[in-house]
Amino acid sequence: MDCLREIQGKQAHDPIFIEKMNTSASWRCICVPGPLIVGAGPSGLATAACLKEKGVPSVVLERSNCIASLWQLKTYDRLRLHLPKQFCELPLMGFPTDFPTYPIKQQFVDYLEAYAREFDIKPRFNETVSQAEYDATLGFWRVKSVGVNGKGTEYVCRWLVVATGENAEAVMPEMEGMGEFGGDIRHTSLYKSGEEFRGKRVLVVGCGNSGMEVCLDLCNHNARPSLVVRDTVHVLPREMLGRSTFGLSMWLLKWLPIRFVDRLLLIVTWLMLGDTARIGLDRPRLGPLELKNLSGKTPVLDVGTLANIKSGDIKVCPSIKRLKRHAVEFVNGKTENFDAIILATGYKSNVPSWLKEREMFSEKDGYPRRPFPNGWKGESGLYAVGFTKRGLLGTSMDARRIAEDIERCWKHEAKHRMAFTRSLLQQPSSDSSS
Ligand SMILES: Cc1cc2nc3c(=O)[nH]c(=O)nc-3n(C[C@H](O)[C@H](O)[C@H](O)COP(=O)(O)OP(=O)(O)OC[C@H]3O[C@@H](n4cnc5c(N)ncnc54)[C@H](O)[C@@H]3O)c2cc1C
Repeated sequence: MDCLREIQGKQAHDPIFIEKMNTSASWRCICVPGPLIVGAGPSGLATAACLKEKGVPSVVLERSNCIASLWQLKTYDRLRLHLPKQFCELPLMGFPTDFPTYPIKQQFVDYLEAYAREFDIKPRFNETVSQAEYDATLGFWRVKSVGVNGKGTEYVCRWLVVATGENAEAVMPEMEGMGEFGGDIRHTSLYKSGEEFRGKRVLVVGCGNSGMEVCLDLCNHNARPSLVVRDTVHVLPREMLGRSTFGLSMWLLKWLPIRFVDRLLLIVTWLMLGDTARIGLDRPRLGPLELKNLSGKTPVLDVGTLANIKSGDIKVCPSIKRLKRHAVEFVNGKTENFDAIILATGYKSNVPSWLKEREMFSEKDGYPRRPFPNGWKGESGLYAVGFTKRGLLGTSMDARRIAEDIERCWKHEAKHRMAFTRSLLQQPSSDSSS
């Protein structure tokens, strides 16, 4: 421990200090004086920026070859921010004023690139963290990563920030007869545009924001989409009473109880969109905001899909019973032919697959066990950013808190390091005494 503290002291101003523990060319060990952040999405970048502002250097590891890989590599072309830009800004740097209220995907990526440049964040790309474990004897985290060439690195650090996101892995449901179908079956993370489905019969499974938007995109490219709706869903207009529905809800919640705001939202929605149950979209028993708070389930903000369902351009179907050769049998006994299936079945956290820790993170879903707003901090220098089910607003809150917390510790340890260095300097050397 003292030995590592000494190394830390000497390297306090170096973001990375490389110590060769093993002479093997395929393995090395790196001692990180500041926090190690896993993931270079918006959450990892926001945390690194907040730390930087406080004078704490950090190292960011990213499994892909770019920042914000979810946005750059796994989203469809027509994607815009679902929420108005003022609710999606990262700490310390706003969006450019000429950006529209709902920036398109490329604008958001440009903003993140500029953000990384502004705070001089240079993630170590192509490094997938495969294991992280706290070494109680050393008092440090040992984090193993694997590069594209299979080269392994072990990082030793005092603070570990998990920023791998709520959307780290695609959820692929098992369906009977999947091998029989014969057509294209793909997750939305691999869907780019309806162009390649022009004229085709496409079944979209899942009616969240992505599923609804993919259906709309397919319509716009003259494909023939059907939407599987297995569960109840709240669809709200993206704007109401001249404001964004999200912004209006946040504003009303400052003065009114959540159930009252929910009732208000549902009345205005009913006036604007009509009774969605009549087109096969039953509403949950709980209101949209209460449901979001209790389960994290996000209401769908309609950007035009509903009109296409009403006009019959998008067909609503019940749950799938099984797949057949280029066909799908539904639980109501009907069978229809399809050329392709798009799975808008969401994502999951991958934390349990690499973090050997069960106190802070649940093994079941890979989220912090303590509910919002207390899930950001664990024991022994472990932190989580971006697991609040509250999008980028949650990310900003977590990032600021983590940076403040680590800064306190960093300053405290800096005093310790300085005292240690001073005591070394004051000791008469053996040469002078002889
Ligand atoms: C289609 C879509 C639209 C959305 N729109 C909005 C919106 O408008 N507003 C909003 O607030 N939120 C939105 N969200 C929520 C979204 O989760 C956040 O916007 C944001 O991307 C979360 O950032 P993050 O950094 O926490 O996670 P991510 O963006 O997923 O970044 C995590 C990073 O960690 C990396 N990683 C994962 N595992 C490892 C590992 N083992 N080793 C190394 N690196 C790893 C990943 O490659 C990734 O780059 C949207 C999500 C989706 C899918």
